[in-house]
Amino acid sequence: MSVPDNEELIDYEDEHDVVTNAAAAPSAGTGAAVAPTADSESDKKNFAGIHSTGFRDFLLKPELLRAISDLGFEHPSEVQQECIPQAVLGMDVLCQAKSGHGKTAVFVLASLQQLEPVDGEVSVLVMCHTRELAFQIKNEYTRFAKYMPDVRISTFYGGTPVSKDIELLRDKSKCPHIIVATPGRLNALVRDKALDASKVKHFVLDECDKMLEQLDMRRDVQEIFRATPHHKQVMMFSATLAKEIRITCKKFMANPLEIFVDDETKLTLHGLQQHYVKLAESSKNKKLNELLDTLEFNQVVIFVKSVQRAIELDKLLISCNFPSISIHSNLTQEERIARYTAFKAFEKRILVATDIFGRGIDVERVNIVVNYDCPADADSYLHRVGRAGRFGTKGLAITFVTSESDQQVMAAIQARFEVAVPELPEHIDPATYMTS
Ligand code: ADP
Ligand code: MG
Repeated sequence: MSVPDNEELIDYEDEHDVVTNAAAAPSAGTGAAVAPTADSESDKKNFAGIHSTGFRDFLLKPELLRAISDLGFEHPSEVQQECIPQAVLGMDVLCQAKSGHGKTAVFVLASLQQLEPVDGEVSVLVMCHTRELAFQIKNEYTRFAKYMPDVRISTFYGGTPVSKDIELLRDKSKCPHIIVATPGRLNALVRDKALDASKVKHFVLDECDKMLEQLDMRRDVQEIFRATPHHKQVMMFSATLAKEIRITCKKFMANPLEIFVDDETKLTLHGLQQHYVKLAESSKNKKLNELLDTLEFNQVVIFVKSVQRAIELDKLLISCNFPSISIHSNLTQEERIARYTAFKAFEKRILVATDIFGRGIDVERVNIVVNYDCPADADSYLHRVGRAGRFGTKGLAITFVTSESDQQVMAAIQARFEVAVPELPEHIDPATYMTS
């Protein structure tokens, strides 16, 4: 049994020669209509439940309701209200909803509700684009399956010994019922017949646009899909679902329930204040230092465009005594997970990251995102800044703009999402970006 070594070389992450985003291209004007407000009241609607539905109304298993209550979830969010009732019935779901609004719980609850664990049978496959996200989703499953002791969940991704995955899959008493994986490793396991996908009943893609836009990942996803039975539930989620990619998504589905909780133009987060700073490349460090000294924050994520820059900037911050840590693809996988976990556990307050941290990652205390390097397109911007202001909390996003092309990206963002991103003012009241 050989898993080709080059599987390890396929790293979908940290690519920066980004394909131009058709949707971000045309309009240059700032169609600024809706200014971001720090008014959390307006956002609460999305969280407190307009129809005042409770999790009980979804008729979930008592084991799940108990876990939900332990987690302190009081009301389902809008996306949960819209999707869960159909999802638990086994319908296909294609769902777009804002960052941080609880999309994960939709597929986690829907699949756990329907799962009947059988030894040696894999029933649920969840795929996402980065290893840290796979790890995070696996933890979500573990939290919700707290009172379902028979359910086994595993995560498989590159950068770890494949022999361990194979061993686990071979042993009937250890074989997971639910697998959360990145597509490269999962496809290798399917190809080598280490994983029998013929009993799969639920097929989930998180960050589905990312997974299907990138051709190498899409090929892996398609091959895995082909190894699963024809009759199954397919669910896909993202905050960004351009028209073209929806068509691709629907090729995997049968009459899906299509949920677009938010109009494309309304995807920016209400509690998130957004600003830019125009400056020279050589002034970035000075400005960053000043921001970190003057702004109030619980945790900050600083995005840069390459691994090298992540390493250098992190070093610099540490030398200035900032509690910084970095995450990028040039670390061992063990170290990546260790750093993700340390940041999530609030052991470090500043994270310098490449785009591998740009989507899906959920760290509650992050209230500031700094785009030290401007993102390549509007979608990437939306996902990055969505690391702050999660689940209706307040936040602040600051983007450094140095070039003409950075300015074009900022213009595209403002036009596409109908949001004003003004220049950073001299002073910002911390009450507007710190959730008390
Ligand atoms: P998304 O995938 O939509 O970006 P996540 O699924 O990562 O968002 O959820 C964001 C955060 O909100 C997570 O920390 C999650 O635990 C929390 N959350 C989700 N649903 C609820 C709820 N109904 N009540 C309270 N917190 C929730
Ligand atoms: Mg998510």
